[in-house]
Amino acid sequence: MFGHAMMKLRVAVIGGGAAGLCALRHLSACGERFDPVGFEQLDGVGGTWRYTDHIGTMENGIPVQSSMYRNLKTNLPKEVMAFPGFPFPQNLPSFVKHEDVLQYLTDYYQHYDLHKYLKLNTRVDLVEPVKAGTRTEWSVTYSSENQSQTGQFDAVIVCNGHYAVPLVPHLEGEKSFQGEITHSHDYRVPDVYKDKVVVCLGAAASGQDVSLDIATVANKVIISHNKPSLKTVLPSNVCQQTGIDRLTEKTAVFTNGKEEPVDVIMLCTGYRYSFPFLSPNCAVNIEDERVTPLYKHIIHTRYPTLSFIGICKTICPFPQFENQVRFVLSMLDGSMPLPNQTEMERDTEKDFQARLAEGLPTRHAHSMGPRQWAYNDMLAHMGGFEVIPPAVQNLYDEVHRVRVTNLPGYKRKQYRLTGEDSFQENECIGS
Ligand code: FAD
Repeated sequence: MFGHAMMKLRVAVIGGGAAGLCALRHLSACGERFDPVGFEQLDGVGGTWRYTDHIGTMENGIPVQSSMYRNLKTNLPKEVMAFPGFPFPQNLPSFVKHEDVLQYLTDYYQHYDLHKYLKLNTRVDLVEPVKAGTRTEWSVTYSSENQSQTGQFDAVIVCNGHYAVPLVPHLEGEKSFQGEITHSHDYRVPDVYKDKVVVCLGAAASGQDVSLDIATVANKVIISHNKPSLKTVLPSNVCQQTGIDRLTEKTAVFTNGKEEPVDVIMLCTGYRYSFPFLSPNCAVNIEDERVTPLYKHIIHTRYPTLSFIGICKTICPFPQFENQVRFVLSMLDGSMPLPNQTEMERDTEKDFQARLAEGLPTRHAHSMGPRQWAYNDMLAHMGGFEVIPPAVQNLYDEVHRVRVTNLPGYKRKQYRLTGEDSFQENECIGS
């Protein structure tokens, strides 16, 4: 137990997206032990699922947080996306629209009465560790309508997301290129690319999905990437190329020497971690998209009362957020003793070195993919709570299997979980 044995711990939660709502839900469920206060800078919950037509900044000057585009449907079925025990409505198809996810998160917020704990329109500006005897407390400065206040907390849970600050690579020749260069963060509608030749640089989830959306109106879409060639069927106006070597005034030259006239470069190159509100005294470093020093990608090894939910990438997000939140709560309420700082740092380094040994670059320090299931189970075993039902992994793997060969069609499938480890595929729906 980090606080006084009889006192409730005051816990600040930064962000009212899926991760922050999940943290508030579980903290408030242990009301005798925790006194949570959530902070969300926007005027509503849901984080990245709050679609906006705006690009750059919102009317109130806050940078746009959402990376959604108008036609986006989820790339995971609702059956695996849901928080355990809180399913999406049954009448929805498996792959839902972004507005359905926002409604789902709003329902979650209302169902668990989280408005009692969350301050909307309130931005956290500064988090500072403060010595309180042998313990570290947290001074959190936040502002609302230009009024600034500071509160003291026993713990801080950072849930600020990592899809709001685009990672923009330098491209040789970009200054002389006469077409448009933009990032998928700013992509909203395909119409503006009608009859154009568009290069989507990057073939991860966004690159694949955005390419298909633009291809509905564009003359040609080139998915440019350095991965092994995608093995999926693609629409007739979509092709693949290697990465971009350089741009000229009107063309892209690819690393295989081929050159194509292009109108638009759509950077589907991912996002950066950013914690502008953490003071340097929090001792959090980001180097080449690796956030340190985080034990199990969650807990600050030097200041364990500072934790992060949702750092991992290539995951099934909501169920993992729930595991990470419960792991933090088990630590905060004292039911899960932590190893000492040296042991936690050794464990963190071991995890990182294992990735490097597999040939992964540093920027994949928090990528999970197939590792996520053992990781989720480990958190549950350590924290003493139930594991995610195997049906979630089984269906997630099945969707991945279908997607790699049928990118344009996989979202038409319908699924249903039928037991702890089983699911059923139903009739496909129309496009
Ligand atoms: P966010 O949703 O980004 O929420 C963070 C919140 O913190 C925001 O509301 C922000 O305003 C707030 N905040 C930030 N800084 C401050 C501050 N200083 N003070 C106060 N508030 C602050 N996941 C799926 O499960 N299925 C999908 O199909 C899927 N598709 C995706 C498609 C796209 C294009 C993107 C970008 C993501 C997708 N995801 C998908 C992943 C998605 O990011 C997660 O599902 C999840 O919503 C992330 O939640 P979060 O709470 O971590 O972050």
